[in-house]
Amino acid sequence: MLISLDGFRWDYLQRPNASRLRELAARGARAERLIPSFPSKTFPNHLTLVTGLYPEHHGIAANVMRDPVLGRFATGADPAVRDARWYSGEPIWVTAERQGVRSASYFWPGSEAPIGGVLPHWTYPFDVTTSRATRVQRVLEWVVMPESTAPGLIAVYFSEVDTDGHNFGPDAARTDTAIAQVDSAVGAIVDGIAALGATGRVNIVVVSDHGMTEIVAERTIALDAYVSMDSLVMGDWSPVATIIPRPGKLEYVFNALVDAHPHLKVYRKGDLPSRLHYNTGAHVTPIVAIADEGWSISTQAAADGMPRGQVFGAHGYDPELPSMGALFIAAGPDVARGIVVPAFANVHVYSLLAMLLHLKPAVTDGSPDSVRMLLRVAR
Ligand code: AMP
Ligand code: ZN
Ligand code: ZN
Repeated sequence: MLISLDGFRWDYLQRPNASRLRELAARGARAERLIPSFPSKTFPNHLTLVTGLYPEHHGIAANVMRDPVLGRFATGADPAVRDARWYSGEPIWVTAERQGVRSASYFWPGSEAPIGGVLPHWTYPFDVTTSRATRVQRVLEWVVMPESTAPGLIAVYFSEVDTDGHNFGPDAARTDTAIAQVDSAVGAIVDGIAALGATGRVNIVVVSDHGMTEIVAERTIALDAYVSMDSLVMGDWSPVATIIPRPGKLEYVFNALVDAHPHLKVYRKGDLPSRLHYNTGAHVTPIVAIADEGWSISTQAAADGMPRGQVFGAHGYDPELPSMGALFIAAGPDVARGIVVPAFANVHVYSLLAMLLHLKPAVTDGSPDSVRMLLRVAR
């Protein structure tokens, strides 16, 4: 059982409302934090978690992308999320299905696309309005199925903590309420599994995709103050701007932006720091501009329209920043008990899932050796 709590920062685990998650960690294993991949955004990281590949390798390099053949990709209700041509690599559910293990997904990003021609046996069109209770009930219906037909892998997704983190900031009372909501949902899944007598046969892995940091309108970099927007096409905007200059405009756009703002780092494709693993791949744009922590990238008009003196939340920044750190907890019959391991990168999660499912893994950017210590009996 793979559970994603979108935007659940690693240190939220110590907030009063995260008691069920702490309980789960205490009877299993957790990481100090899970280091997301760059950019620390939702779709890129959900695909990294299930493929073991950096975003430059799995195709989903940003939440918003452009492709000369495929057009535009965006998250949410965009039909592009169901188009397998955007995706590369092998999600763990594809590895599972190909090796005879049934899989089920309730809203895991990317699970609606037949990647490599394979869909999870069960998958649902993303509907943000589906209640937590419905999601919990659905995953428990999978757990209760007879072993011959039950999925061996169940993936489920909850977005409340990300949504309220964006709207109110990571330290807001509303974000604590969202933490309580997803903590209760995980608690309900754990209790449901126990009530079915299945605690001894279900391994649970709870992750998040990234953390959250405070932003305020006063710290906005207005791109159009420095560059003519007619000379480029934008993918993502903030805090990582993925920029495709129009034909012949690469030098102009780069030179206009490179020293434009003290809190904006601007790179050509191929020149990003190697630790970001964001230099190759068709969907990495020719120019990438990264705001410093707490800064946003926008237009002058949009910046002027933002309410002053109000705190919001954002992510997407450098994955090494503590504020971008994500959650990792695992517990179950095959997971080590009561251990806390140092921070590790989320490219390794696929390797752990493959070991827990006894699957032969695809080649990835991660390694089983980085996560083997999380198993109860070393394999
Ligand atoms: P972010 O800006 O990185 O927080 O992006 C989160 C976005 O991803 C939100 O707009 C969600 O509605 C969207 N999202 C989350 N899960 C899915 C999914 N399974 N399919 C489509 N969109 C999703
Ligand atoms: Zn997210
Ligand atoms: Zn978000």
